[in-house]
Amino acid sequence: MNASDMTAFETTLHHRLEQQKAAGRYRQRRSQCDAGVRTRIDGRDMLTFCSNDYLGLATHPRVVEALCDGARRHGAGGGASHLVNGHQEIHDRLEAHLAQWTGRERALLFSSGYQANLGVISALMSRGGHVVHDRLNHASLLDGTRQSGARLHRFDHGDVSMATQILAELSPESSRLLVSDGVFSMDGDSADIAALAVLAQRHDVPLMIDDAHGLGVLGASGAGTLEAQNVGADRVPILVGTLGKALGTQGAFVAGSHTLIEALIQFARPFVYTTSLSPALAAATLAALDIVQTEPERRRHLHRLIQRFRQELTGLALPGITLMPSETPIQPLLIGGEQAAMALSERLHEEGILCTAIRPPTVPPGQSRLRVTLSAAHADADLDRLLCALERCCRTANS
Ligand SMILES: *Cc1c(COP(=O)(O)O)cnc(C)c1O
Repeated sequence: MNASDMTAFETTLHHRLEQQKAAGRYRQRRSQCDAGVRTRIDGRDMLTFCSNDYLGLATHPRVVEALCDGARRHGAGGGASHLVNGHQEIHDRLEAHLAQWTGRERALLFSSGYQANLGVISALMSRGGHVVHDRLNHASLLDGTRQSGARLHRFDHGDVSMATQILAELSPESSRLLVSDGVFSMDGDSADIAALAVLAQRHDVPLMIDDAHGLGVLGASGAGTLEAQNVGADRVPILVGTLGKALGTQGAFVAGSHTLIEALIQFARPFVYTTSLSPALAAATLAALDIVQTEPERRRHLHRLIQRFRQELTGLALPGITLMPSETPIQPLLIGGEQAAMALSERLHEEGILCTAIRPPTVPPGQSRLRVTLSAAHADADLDRLLCALERCCRTANS
């Protein structure tokens, strides 16, 4: 479009878009033809290593069939909010299963993890309160805090002694909340939840854990980071989980006491003022949850791939990339510069491998990376292809 044809607001937007381009931060979506690890993009076969569908359930025949069957029985959409008439028995069943799985009295469904985090923090906190965050917490936790009007405090990533210091300086009379991701989404490492729980208890502050990337993947029964670290549910009164990652569907839930859930139903605006989670998705998620609980071999295969990836990549000692410490399917390769990370991602793309570069503002400047994620849907041969392609791309780039 010609600049002179733009309205004033479009001219402003156009200017901001140009700035984004000049900064090398213009983002674009890429359309792939399905959610599988082997897919097609622009008519070309691609092998993907950047999805959060860690167990390959997004395309699992049983989950897909449960979605279709759920739509036939209950409707494609809920038709209204949960408090009007969008709440169905299938939602109750899913909430009961999620509560049982995570060892809590109740669970409450939200339409997304973003909304769940906004809902919990803005329902619990208000102006005059304090929310203490790990510096690498997910953006939705920060946005929830801003929206609540409470003050945002951040401790350095994983630095429990700095968290202690912050809490020690807050008045015990004020309302306070300690929040952390269970598994950090861009680094793949886990919070020391036992240490955070001790701290929370000592200061009489509720602890909230967002385990979006741990649920389904970590722990013997896939119940997440708490199970993996042997931390009892009673020590983390507020647990957030998402359905769009290892469970392969869409939506989220908060699990906790009866009182917490009742309070969220009353006060969490992102729960109250939105259409209910699709009942078909609730049915699909029940099927996914059943697979997570009854097929531990999916997790075993995934964890074996993770070990193989780490061992063989370390053995290759590729120039220009650093494997970050992580025991989860998120295996970031730290590159540093934005352009270098983008270039490696593009070279892999030419080799038929999709792995997007993550750069500021999602990660701090100078910490751009390739966020490799592994899935139970990957075969050993897929991992071989990734390792060979990485070797070719890195050695040619640095020769
Ligand atoms: C993905 C993610 C969310 C957001 O969940 P959605 O269901 O995708 O909105 C929240 N927290 C963390 C830690 C996440 O990784």
